[in-house]
Amino acid sequence: MRSTVFSTTEPTSSGASGALRTSSEAIRLQLRSWPEVEAYLERCKGVIVPLGSTEQHGPTGAIGTDALTAEAVALEVGRRSGVLVTPAQAFGMAEHHLGFAGTVSLQPSTLLAVLHDIVLSLASHGFERIYVINGHGGNIATSRAAFAQSYGTAASRGLPVAGRLRCRLANWFTAGPVMQEARNLYGDREGHHATPSEISLTLHLEPSLGAKQRPLPEPAPAGPIHGPADFRRRHPDGRMGSDPFLAQPQHGELFLDLAATALVDDLGRFLADEDAPD
Ligand SMILES: [Zn+2]
Repeated sequence: MRSTVFSTTEPTSSGASGALRTSSEAIRLQLRSWPEVEAYLERCKGVIVPLGSTEQHGPTGAIGTDALTAEAVALEVGRRSGVLVTPAQAFGMAEHHLGFAGTVSLQPSTLLAVLHDIVLSLASHGFERIYVINGHGGNIATSRAAFAQSYGTAASRGLPVAGRLRCRLANWFTAGPVMQEARNLYGDREGHHATPSEISLTLHLEPSLGAKQRPLPEPAPAGPIHGPADFRRRHPDGRMGSDPFLAQPQHGELFLDLAATALVDDLGRFLADEDAPD
């Protein structure tokens, strides 16, 4: 075994990691009992936390896009790796989208507190590697701040795992192969919000969303992000330079595979203590 963080007594796949295994179903925390979680901790100290947002995605995109996509990628990574997956945190930092009906936002300080408490709860049970799979760019800065705060609290509370606790943020939409494929398929029409890549993934996950798809006028270009009123003035229909009508469910299936492949690899390195950003 490469590390105590990720030892396993279950059947393993061959390969360099020697630890990642393939299972038919993700191990979902929601469906486990506490003795099962205790037993899991005997073989793996890693856990995946899906992080989304509940915010407008243009006139045709689902409000839940970022939560649906983060959870789907997390479950696929969990299925392929055998690493436990928590319920999704479906509300994120979306203050600048509050000018559009349906958006539900946590202030940065609230999201920081939520993520901090999630990390500290998990760390108190002995989890040492918290892998947050994120679906929303607006969560990035706050997530990093929450990790920094969590390390400090773990130490000040004297948690046994404090010296070994690591958190990593994995943004599925910025994984290299995902960005490259989005560029191949959509070029500049990928844009920056309500992108055809993320909308494709939602169409793959929820076929009923296809009924909303229709051609849209030229989008407003991407620009600086300030408050909700300014965002709506600059981006009247909620899009930033994107053409979500290009989205296709089969593209979504491909993005799910590309994202999961990249993140399983990244997760393996994280669990094996290999250095990487975050
Ligand atoms: Zn999004």
